[in-house]
Amino acid sequence: MESRDKIGIVGLGLIGGSLALALRGKYEVVAMSRNPETTAYALGCGMINGVAESYADFADCRAVIVCVPIGLVKQTVCELAALLPDVIISDVGSVKGMLCGIKGRIIGGHPMAGTEQSGVRAAKERLLENAYYILTDYNGNADDLEYMKKLVRDVGAKPVIMNAEEHDRLVGKISHVVHIAAYSLADSMLEGDETIVGSGFMDTTRIASSSPEFWNTVCALNRGNIVEDIDELTETLTRVRNDIAAGKDITPFLAEAKEKRDRLVYKKRYMTEYVLYVDVPDCVGSIAGVLNRLTAQGISIENLGVVHAREGAGGALRIELKDERDYLKAKEILG
Ligand code: NAP
Repeated sequence: MESRDKIGIVGLGLIGGSLALALRGKYEVVAMSRNPETTAYALGCGMINGVAESYADFADCRAVIVCVPIGLVKQTVCELAALLPDVIISDVGSVKGMLCGIKGRIIGGHPMAGTEQSGVRAAKERLLENAYYILTDYNGNADDLEYMKKLVRDVGAKPVIMNAEEHDRLVGKISHVVHIAAYSLADSMLEGDETIVGSGFMDTTRIASSSPEFWNTVCALNRGNIVEDIDELTETLTRVRNDIAAGKDITPFLAEAKEKRDRLVYKKRYMTEYVLYVDVPDCVGSIAGVLNRLTAQGISIENLGVVHAREGAGGALRIELKDERDYLKAKEILG
């Protein structure tokens, strides 16, 4: 049998576990985690091929991918790079500037995929599928970058090369400040408002259910960019606030923002963004009817949920499609 490259993973949680599952079969995967129960579980369910007891056990790996909590990434990468100079050291940390200046075969990584869950049991084989996966070459290791590009493609993700500064500026805008906005909205909720809270509030604040410790660390690591982005958002909010207070027509602002958002749905490459909401009446067979119309046309449904927006008056069916093709086809069928 052709021998497979060996890949090490440090930190077998949501991302580390999902990477291990996606690498399974194509690479030999050895992992270490903080809790011995984690690796025992992963070994037991075939998520990994072996357990590493210490960093030295990664010496015959082509690459080691650091998937520990963000606050521990830099230290772990430093230790691995110093101990294993012949191995590519990569990570999945959400901030990339923190690895600048570390010597060695460092290829930073950041898969733009995730959920609010954590731990090895939340890992999903297809979590990274179709997701952009940013790669950062810190020290001009072109061959190592090529190797990581191939590995990223092998897990079904799309490699995008970016330097650390570009990355941190971009994710500050599209992710970090978005989380701060969601937390702020959730925090503005008044006691007693919960009874009438609707899907709009829930959808917009969904990401405020993410780990506070994680986001606190991200804010510390990408402080400059996040502060700038919060200033920009504050400016926009102040402008809209003043227009509303002055009784001005804000339709042009809303229309422009809507157009930008609508365009995103089509451009989006994450599979979880191919979501349709369909109103369903509160009667027997209404959900089955919608599903039958889709499956009859060969459309595969990734995920399904009912959003109870209006008590006793039916709800919306949340349908997650596999890709853009199925999304557009389903949209056409359901009108
Ligand atoms: P997670 O589910 O909490 O997984 C982290 C795992 O690291 C834990 O399961 C823990 O293992 C292990 N760990 C903790 N301390 C360790 C140590 N000292 N040595 C070895 N293993 C240790 O978190 P995650 O969401 O996968 O995040 C991991 C990394 O992915 C972070 O750096 C984050 O920036 C990045 N990331 C996250 C997302 C996301 O949406 N979640 C998206 C992109 C990138 P045990 O269970 O054994 O204690």
